[in-house]
Amino acid sequence: MNLIIGSHVSFNNKNQLLGSVEEALSYNANTFMFYTGSTQSIMRSEINDEYTYKAYKLMVENNINSDNVIVHAPYIINLANRNDEDKYMFYIKFFKEELNRVKALGFDKIVLHPGSAVNCSREDGIKNIIDGINLVFEDTKDTKILLEFMAGKGNELGKNIDELKSIIDGIHDKSRIFVCLDSCHMNDSGVDVSLIDNFLDEFDKKIGIDKIKCFHINDSMNPIGSHKDRHANIGYGTIGFETLNNIVHNKRLEGIPFILETPYVNRNQSNEYPPYKYEIENFRNEKFIDFIQ
Ligand code: FE
Ligand code: FE
Ligand code: ZN
Repeated sequence: MNLIIGSHVSFNNKNQLLGSVEEALSYNANTFMFYTGSTQSIMRSEINDEYTYKAYKLMVENNINSDNVIVHAPYIINLANRNDEDKYMFYIKFFKEELNRVKALGFDKIVLHPGSAVNCSREDGIKNIIDGINLVFEDTKDTKILLEFMAGKGNELGKNIDELKSIIDGIHDKSRIFVCLDSCHMNDSGVDVSLIDNFLDEFDKKIGIDKIKCFHINDSMNPIGSHKDRHANIGYGTIGFETLNNIVHNKRLEGIPFILETPYVNRNQSNEYPPYKYEIENFRNEKFIDFIQ
């Protein structure tokens, strides 16, 4: 079976989307995920169509299908927080623009962290997210939102199937709302991902397996149920290579893009390097070869 796998790559380091595609190809990936700008700010550069055009040419030459490319929304958007109505509406406007940027770049999927319940109940937080997404959908077209399954760190919402289902149930346009799973987040929220088929059974019964449009594949630095959200390199965490490899090659997840969000090796040191080429190769070969010296 043809594995669709890549990693998060940078967009603004050089040449926007062209740089992203070049980076993905350097890892032998056949898909990728990127942020349109900083994850922590609203600063966005104008999209350069020349770079986009060249990027698509390179994608076509290398069999990267734009359907499998994922954009990730910045972390600063918290639709659960409606304590300040002006701020809430400001972020909704910003998120609408973000969806339009996704469309302008020729893609159709953006992953969103549902939000964190700040000074409100989890129920109210979920209601704020629903209202926010409905407002965003009213003024935009086509772009689909993928709600990410979260680790449940602090007051994070969307930390189990039921919370994601409550959000989806409130969205008017169901054709644009989907889910992005994350193996580190699932583990940290309390799911035993070595029993992935049990999880998929429950997901299918409550939400529908066809709603899974992306899978972030990460090992975890912490044990099941720790609610920590610290990603580890594949085969170097508490989940382990075998379990993650079984997820990536699970028949029921065939055709879904798998995206690595694992840390650079030797991060912040002079000898740091990205792990993605090795992690992708190990999954393709279904064999773990140590790549950290
Ligand atoms: Fe995420
Ligand atoms: Fe993730
Ligand atoms: Zn995470």
